[in-house]
Amino acid sequence: ALTAGIVGLPNVGKSTLFNAITKAGAEAANYPFCTIDPNVGIVEVPDERLDKLTELVVPKKTVPTAFEFTDIAGIVKGASKGEGLGNKFLAHIREVDAICQVVRCFADENVTHVAGKVDPISDIEVINLELILADLESVEKRLQRVGKMAKQKDKDAMVEEPVLVKLRDAFEDEKPARSVEFTEEELRVVKGLHLLTIKPMLYVANVAEDEIANADENEYVQKVREFAKVDNAQVIVVCAKIEEEMAELDEEEKAMFLDELGIKESGLDQLVKAAYQLLGLATYFTAGVQEVRAWTFRKGMKAPQCAGVIHTDFERGFIRAETVSYDDLVANGSMASAKEAGKVRLEGKEYIVQDGDVMLFRFNV
Ligand code: GDP
Repeated sequence: ALTAGIVGLPNVGKSTLFNAITKAGAEAANYPFCTIDPNVGIVEVPDERLDKLTELVVPKKTVPTAFEFTDIAGIVKGASKGEGLGNKFLAHIREVDAICQVVRCFADENVTHVAGKVDPISDIEVINLELILADLESVEKRLQRVGKMAKQKDKDAMVEEPVLVKLRDAFEDEKPARSVEFTEEELRVVKGLHLLTIKPMLYVANVAEDEIANADENEYVQKVREFAKVDNAQVIVVCAKIEEEMAELDEEEKAMFLDELGIKESGLDQLVKAAYQLLGLATYFTAGVQEVRAWTFRKGMKAPQCAGVIHTDFERGFIRAETVSYDDLVANGSMASAKEAGKVRLEGKEYIVQDGDVMLFRFNV
């Protein structure tokens, strides 16, 4: 499964946030792919559409889809040179598909800041620089080899060399690969390099309890937002401490708590949604009387692959999929009415599944 790694300097609130994730996830149903890795936290993906479908179909049970976060501890200045747990840290980042960087935007004199004062941009730069330096090293190594091959007129090398040079220049300017513009062809080369700084980045601005309701007035948050624009990254705001408390509440209590705080959606829910988006994930539904359920797929996946998310047999024996969009189903009130209205399509092997599709797979066993 695709996973997002949680990183950040010491004392920014990573463990607090990760605790919130595992506590919230512990409540969730027993997922078959549930790992016992203590560094992996599984959370349900909040989706209002699932609630609506449950109302319509009245199934025996409803199962949301889930998402995994990986806690990656141990970044320090000098990680790219192998200091501290540096190498291990970078190896862990290599394995995740997106990075959520927790950034301290709360003051709290009782919590020591590693650099002596709260300065989110300089914190971000410390971490990003380690990632950039690690990428610079691998690109330089590769450039030596590819450069020689290009001189000998090796075709692939001649395509790759200018891309490597472009990357090296960006890294030397302390810019991450994700902020560089590439042509389609260049991007193909870049993807093969498995760089750290090409991974999508989400900054998680951790603000104080009393600032969450008006977080956009927080000057640290404003700075992070500005920085993220140039960095081609996204930002969400949370208060990790509140999330940790909220993770123990049931739905009703949680709603009341949010109301009191004056916020619409919990930071954790926003985090899950943002990470999901960042990874190019989407949701389709199955909606039978036994079970209404949400399933995660990667945008661009075709119907048989999506069927394979449920079971490999579904992919192998795929014949077709009865498909209706969520909006059409809701507008017609029931599957039967949607059928009458001609809104239920029979889709074949080449159909690219859309976010919100409600599907019934037909397959051979
Ligand atoms: P980590 O080192 O990044 O994992 O940071 P921790 O999650 O252990 O947090 C470090 C300290 O900051 C702990 O004492 C937390 O209680 C505190 N902390 C974390 N998040 C918040 C927050 O949102 N508000 C306040 N006031 N303190 C926080």
